[in-house]
Amino acid sequence: MNTCIRLALIAHDGKKDEMVTLAGEFRDWLGGCTLCATGTTGQRLIDAHGLQVERLLSGPLGGDLQIGARLAVGGLDAIIFLRDPMTPQPHEPDINALVRACDVHDIPCATNLSTARLLLSQLSRR
Ligand code: PGA
Repeated sequence: MNTCIRLALIAHDGKKDEMVTLAGEFRDWLGGCTLCATGTTGQRLIDAHGLQVERLLSGPLGGDLQIGARLAVGGLDAIIFLRDPMTPQPHEPDINALVRACDVHDIPCATNLSTARLLLSQLSRR
């Protein structure tokens, strides 16, 4: 059963393959969720798994901020944010703002693959 979880998905370039793999593991359950994603991440998920994903702006163009704004007004239940800690990002302030917004509003935010698996496993059990 799926209680229509509202989930945002973001993966930096070095983590997009991991995101696609992860989404494949939870494909059926994700199909019943309301999904949004930053632009390129969303397109990868659509192409790989045929998921219905609302594509927001690409992260460097403001997509992270769009997701942060959405969660701040109660529009999201959880975030999967696969960050690449080895590559400097031009939009580091936006990334920090999003993670901070998750903490301010107490929204689960998984920033690596192992945590993301745990989070999705738990959510998909509800
Ligand atoms: P993207 O954005 O999914 O459009 O690549 C993610 C990011 O790099 O923050």
